[in-house]
Amino acid sequence: MNIFCFFLYAFLLLGVLIVPVLFFMAAPYGRHFSANWGVGVNNRWAWVIMEFVSLLSFSFFFIFFLKPSVQWMHWFLFALWILHYTHRSLIFPFQLRSSQSKMPLLIMLNAVLFNVINGGLNGFYLGAAKTLYPENYYLTGYFILGFFLFLSGMIINISSDYYLISLRSENQNHYVIPKWRWFNYVSSPNYLGEIIEWIGFALMAQNMPAWVFAFWTVANLVPRAVTHHKWYKNKFPDYPKNRKAIIPFLF
Ligand code: NDP
Repeated sequence: MNIFCFFLYAFLLLGVLIVPVLFFMAAPYGRHFSANWGVGVNNRWAWVIMEFVSLLSFSFFFIFFLKPSVQWMHWFLFALWILHYTHRSLIFPFQLRSSQSKMPLLIMLNAVLFNVINGGLNGFYLGAAKTLYPENYYLTGYFILGFFLFLSGMIINISSDYYLISLRSENQNHYVIPKWRWFNYVSSPNYLGEIIEWIGFALMAQNMPAWVFAFWTVANLVPRAVTHHKWYKNKFPDYPKNRKAIIPFLF
């Protein structure tokens, strides 16, 4: 087994092992923040740092291992990754209203490590053109469905995040019941959108690192959505009874 496969399978195994842990213990940032996790850092800058690392790591590995056999599809997927992480690291954090909030340093460092590995695995695999796409790949079901899912996931994710952010004025930290569009069906449509987005990316990319990332996104965000949902129901006695945690009408 080469070093790439070793990292990829170890990363996948870690994702599998972490799911049950995350159902019992929410990562302590945002509403689940806990001072017991040691020194805290500014929440906004933590988001910038941990997500910008993904942009850097992905771009570095993509370009460093770039093969002449690379096709326009590899560059297209490269551009989608850059689009997502430019927004997540350089635009989203500056929209947050709770500029004084903290995130445990440990959580930020965990996310940095995750993004170095995940960005590296995906950047390397795409840049080294390990998967070759047939001519007219953009006309195939994989690409069309994948791109549709990626775009619709991104729209659901970003619009839900911005709606949540708009519920507060600058420097406020309170929570209210979200009542807009997708929130009538699930408590965390931003997480649902993120999951749909990365499943779409994996469908388009047709490679193992992209599927491992999609799996990790589910592993991270489904337990967190369940915890958010329970938290809402405990905090607000009038929380809508029909609303689900993350999958409309089901879960
Ligand atoms: P949340 O839904 O917990 O919070 C988003 C923002 O809205 C935060 O600023 C939060 O404040 C605020 N907010 C949330 N709910 C309310 C409410 N009811 N009333 C008022 N304000 C509210 O999302 P996360 O912070 O966990 O994640 C942010 C983004 O990062 C999401 O798009 C998510 O998909 C993505 N992400 C992706 C991961 C992956 O594995 N790919 C992992 C983690 C996040 P506060 O912070 O004070 O709670």
